[in-house]
Amino acid sequence: MEYPGNLFVVAAPSGAGKSSLVKALMELDKRVSPSVSHTTRAPRGQEVHGREYYFVSHETFDQMVAQDAFLEWAHVHGNRYGTSKHAIEQRMQQGADVVLEIDYQGALQVKRIFPNAVLVFILPPSWEELRSRLERRNEDSADTIELRLKNAALEMVHAREFDFVIINELFERALFDLKAIVHAQRLKYVAQRNARSDTFEALNIH
Ligand code: GDP
Ligand code: ADP
Ligand code: 5GP
Repeated sequence: MEYPGNLFVVAAPSGAGKSSLVKALMELDKRVSPSVSHTTRAPRGQEVHGREYYFVSHETFDQMVAQDAFLEWAHVHGNRYGTSKHAIEQRMQQGADVVLEIDYQGALQVKRIFPNAVLVFILPPSWEELRSRLERRNEDSADTIELRLKNAALEMVHAREFDFVIINELFERALFDLKAIVHAQRLKYVAQRNARSDTFEALNIH
């Protein structure tokens, strides 16, 4: 399927800084809108239903799978997470830029459906720093942190299947890199041809 806007898909092991980077990107760039996923995980302290996620029961998730309501979904850290078609349909029809913050399995599913999706993998600078961010975030139990670190090793192997890799060491630097990726997509010939059609016509470029 060809998609007229940009579909950015950001994946990372838990604690690498994916949510912080995507949130900062959207604050700076109002043309990028988020997709709110469904999850069977319980909400963390500050999370709001419909903002970070739609928190749903296993039964509701099963029904949505049966109804083919998901663009993609996957098992991650003992829960299920999915992007509903409904979550992005409207903005995609408008040709808007959409960012999906999903795991690598979902990212690869999206790439098969939309080959022009832009896949970005965020890496932490080291194991020590990844562990320390998960501990500092103070949102997950010790068991959950161990599970997430164990899964991180399996997830990071898939960085090679992504278009871009950002190492989130200095936050500002990583944010600059993410902005650069978004910006570069908007400079592609087809994107410029659409956005600046008047200029192209005036220059007789057809
Ligand atoms: P985080 O890793 O600290 O961001 O913790 P979360 O519980 O919010 O997310 C756990 C994992 O599920 C992360 O790898 C997310 O990228 C992934 N995830 C979140 N939403 C989706 C989704 O809609 N689809 C898929 N496939 N994965 C998702
Ligand atoms: P993810 O969504 O990938 O699980 P978060 O965005 O929740 O990760 O970040 C994990 C923790 O690390 C948060 O407490 C966040 O404030 C912190 N963090 C993110 N990026 C950096 C960075 N470059 N340097 C130090 N801490 C960071
Ligand atoms: P380079 O990729 O060649 O190191 O840097 C190119 C541009 O990136 C320069 O304009 C530089 O100022 C900018 N830049 C480098 N590091 C950072 C950073 O950490 N944050 C921001 N906002 N810009 C940066």
